[in-house]
Amino acid sequence: MAGRARKITVAAESGSAPETGTPEPGSIRELPVLPVRHTVLFPFALLPLNVGRERSVALLNDVMAGDRTIAVVAQKDGTVEEPTFDDLHAIGTQGTVLRMLRFPDDRYSVLVQGVARIRLVQPVADTPYLKARFEALGETSDTGVETQALVKNVTEQFERMVALIPSVPDEAVASACNQPGPGHVADFIASLIELPSEDKQHLLETLKVHDRLRLLTDLLARELQVLEVGAQIRSSVQESLDQHQREFLLRQQMEAIRKELGEGDENQREMEELKAKIEKAGMPPDVKKEAERELARLQNIPPQAAEHTVARTYLEWMVEMPWAVVTEDDLDLKHARQVLDQDHYGLDTIKEHILEYLVVRRFKKDARTPILCFVGPPGTGKTSLGQSIARALGRKFVRQSLGGVRDEAEIRGHRRTYIGALPGNIIRGIRRAASRNPLFMLDEIDKLTSDFHGDPSSALLEVLDPEQNNAFVDHYLDVPFDLSQVLFITTANILDTVPPALRDRMEVIRLSGYTDIEKLEIAKRHLIPKAIRENGLEVLELGFSDEAILKVIHEYTSEAGLRNMERELANLMRKTAKEITEGKDAPHQIGPERTRELLGPERYQKDETTTIDAPGAALGLAWTPVGGEVLTIEAAIMPGQRQLLLTGQLGDVMRESAQAALTYIRSHAAEFGIAPEFFDHADLHVHLPAGAIPKDGPSAGVALCTAIVSLLTGRKARANLAMTGEITLRGQVLKVGGVKEKVLGAHRAGIKTVILPAENQGDLEEVPVEVRTHMIFAPVHTADQVIHLALEPAPAAAAVSAAQKREPDRVPAPGESVAAQRPQPSA
Ligand code: ADP
Repeated sequence: MAGRARKITVAAESGSAPETGTPEPGSIRELPVLPVRHTVLFPFALLPLNVGRERSVALLNDVMAGDRTIAVVAQKDGTVEEPTFDDLHAIGTQGTVLRMLRFPDDRYSVLVQGVARIRLVQPVADTPYLKARFEALGETSDTGVETQALVKNVTEQFERMVALIPSVPDEAVASACNQPGPGHVADFIASLIELPSEDKQHLLETLKVHDRLRLLTDLLARELQVLEVGAQIRSSVQESLDQHQREFLLRQQMEAIRKELGEGDENQREMEELKAKIEKAGMPPDVKKEAERELARLQNIPPQAAEHTVARTYLEWMVEMPWAVVTEDDLDLKHARQVLDQDHYGLDTIKEHILEYLVVRRFKKDARTPILCFVGPPGTGKTSLGQSIARALGRKFVRQSLGGVRDEAEIRGHRRTYIGALPGNIIRGIRRAASRNPLFMLDEIDKLTSDFHGDPSSALLEVLDPEQNNAFVDHYLDVPFDLSQVLFITTANILDTVPPALRDRMEVIRLSGYTDIEKLEIAKRHLIPKAIRENGLEVLELGFSDEAILKVIHEYTSEAGLRNMERELANLMRKTAKEITEGKDAPHQIGPERTRELLGPERYQKDETTTIDAPGAALGLAWTPVGGEVLTIEAAIMPGQRQLLLTGQLGDVMRESAQAALTYIRSHAAEFGIAPEFFDHADLHVHLPAGAIPKDGPSAGVALCTAIVSLLTGRKARANLAMTGEITLRGQVLKVGGVKEKVLGAHRAGIKTVILPAENQGDLEEVPVEVRTHMIFAPVHTADQVIHLALEPAPAAAAVSAAQKREPDRVPAPGESVAAQRPQPSA
C-alpha cells in the first residue's frame, strides 16, 4: 500500500545516494511501476509514501539495490488492492527513491523525488511487480504576459492559502517564487496543497504550462473559498467555544468548591424550598401564578448569573410577604382601657376615641379601618401612644419615618429592572410586621418633600385611600397587596405642611404640650419607672423628690413634650448608679441640690424673658411646631423719612400686620397721647429677636402694636404679661389659632397674664385646670383695650388725663377673667 505519510518515524535506513538526472523528452525507458492511491507525484516534488503492499515492498527492495529509479503512477480507483495496468492512469512520474525507512511491522516509508512526467508506452511484466516502458514527456511553455500574470496570480493565491493552512510553512511562498519556470511553479504549488487526487492527476496530465496554470488558478480559487469560509466558521465557533469553555470550566470549579464545602446541589435544594414556600405563603391565585412563573424562569437561569440573584431575591420577597397572616383583634374593652392607662397618663379624649373604635369593631368586624393622624409637638407621646394602641389591640406594630422622603420610589419601590431595586417603605414595613393587619405608624408626614423624583404624597394617598388600598401595587413586587386591614396612624408636628388631599383622608387628633403638673405626674408614674426598668437599676431603689423633678422641668428643659426631661432624668439615674457602683457615698434619693451637682449649671431661667425693663418692647405669643413660645418684640425710633424697618426673619403676613398696626397707631395717635406728626421725620424699626428663626402669621399684631405704642408713649409693658391677637386697621382684635399651645408656652415661661381675642375665650376650656388657676386671661375686642391692659400708666399728667377719660387700668386678680369693656368714645 502506498499513501501520503506526513510523519516518518525513524527505523532502519538503507541504500546509497540516488541518481537524479532528468530524462530527455521523448526518450523511452523501462521502469518498475509503483502504483499509488489518493496522491500524485509531481516532477521536482518530494513525496513521502507509506508502503505496505507485498509487490511494492519487493519492488523497493530491488530498486534500492540499483539506481532507485521508479515510475510512480496513480491508480484510477484507490480501492483496488492489486492493480493491473488497466487500473492505472497512463501518465505518471519518473521518480527517485531518496530514502527508505523500515518499521518494525515490516512496513516501509519512502521518500520519493519526482523527476519528470512520463507516459506508459508498453507494459512489460506483471510479476513480481509491474514493469513497463515509459516515454519521458516535455512541456510546452511560453513567457507571454498572460502566463506571467497567471504565475503572479497563482503565487498570490498560494500565499493566501499558506496563511490559512498551518501545516504549510510560510517559507513555501518564497520557494514557490524562486522556482525556475512557470511550469515548475505550478507543479511545486500543486504538490504542496491538498487537492482531490483527480485534480492533481489532471494537472499532471496538462502538458501546456499556460493551461496548467489556468487550471491551477481555478482550483486554488475554489480551495481558497472553502478555506476562508472554513476559517470564518472556525473563528466564530472558536469564539463561542472559548466563551462556553470558560464558563463551563468556571462552573466546574465552582461546583467542585461547593462540593468541597458540602454545599452540593444547593441550587436544587433552594428551588425546592422556594417552591414549598410559594405553596405555603397563601398568596391570592393571581399572585401565586406570578410567583410560579418567576420560579420557572429562575430554574432556567444558571445560579452564577447576576440575573439569578435578582430573580431569587424577588421570590424571597414574595414568599415572605404575610399574604395570609392576620392577627385576631383583642376587642376586650376593659383590657384595652387598662393597657392604655398603664402606658399613658392623661390623653383622655384620645383614649376614648380608640375605645370607640373598638366598640365599632365588635359590632362590625369588617368595619372600615380609620386612618388617624396624631398632631403635636415632639415628645408628646404620639409614637408611644401608637405602640400602646397596638398592644391594646394585640396587633403587630411597625413604624416608618417619612421625614425627608422625597422620592415616590421610597413609598412605592423601584421597578425590578433597576440594579439593587427593593420594595418601598410600605411593603418593607408589612414584611417586617409579618402580618397583613399591623398597626402601621407613618411618622413625620409633615416632612414629606416632593421634587423631580416624583411626588411621594401622591403615592401615600393611594396607600391611605380605603377605596384603593386593598390592591396596592408596589413597583418592585408588581402584584397587588391588600392594605385595607392595616391600621394606619400618621404623626406630624404641624398640619399646615401636610398636603390637603392627604389631610382629608385622616382623622386628626391633637396632642398638645403637657403642663408642669402633668409632666411631674408622668415622670413619677411612667418615665422614672421605665428608665429604672430599661437600665436594670431596680436593686438600687433610686428615687426623686418632686422638687428635683420640677427643677429638671423648669431649669434644665424648656419644651412642650417630654423628650428632654426623660433624657435628663435617665441621665441623673445613670450618674447616681455609677457613683454608687464606684463605692461613693451617693444618696439614693435625688433632690434639687443633687440635680444641680450632677447636671451642672441651670440652663433656663424661669423668668428670663418675662419682664421688660424699658418702654419699647412687648411680649407676644407664638405657636411653633415644638409648642407655644413667648416672643419679645422690640421697637426703636430714630430720625429718618417715614420708613418702617422690620427685622428678625418675618414672613409677609407678619410684615403686613406690622404695617396695619402702624397705620392704626398713626390714625389714633391723639388718643394715645402721641404727637400726630411723630412719623414725619422719623424711621421706625421693629425687631423680633431670635432672628435666625423665621416667624410668620398674623397673631403678633396686637403685640407689635403694643411695642410701638409703648415706645412712643414711654409707657413700660407690665411684667409677666404676654398677648396674642390679630389686629385690623380699625383696631379690632381678631381670633387666632393655637391658643392652648400658646397658653401652655406662656405658663412654662412664667407668664401670669395673657391678653387674647375675646373670640378665643372658648379655647381656654382646653387648657388644663391647674394652668388656668395660676393665670389671668384678659379677652379683648379692640387694640386700645390691649394698650390699657398691657402698658403701665403714663407718668404724671398723662396718667391723670387717662384716668379722667377711661376706666382705671386694672389687672384682674388671678383666676378671674376680665369681661371686655368697650372703650368710651373719646371726647
Ligand atoms: P413623639 O412621638 O410625640 O415625639 P414619644 O412617643 O416619643 O413622642 O414620647 C416621648 C416619651 O414620652 C416616651 O418615652 C413616651 O413614653 C413618653 N410619654 C409621652 N406622653 C406620655 C404620657 N401621656 N404618659 C406617659 N408617658 C408619656
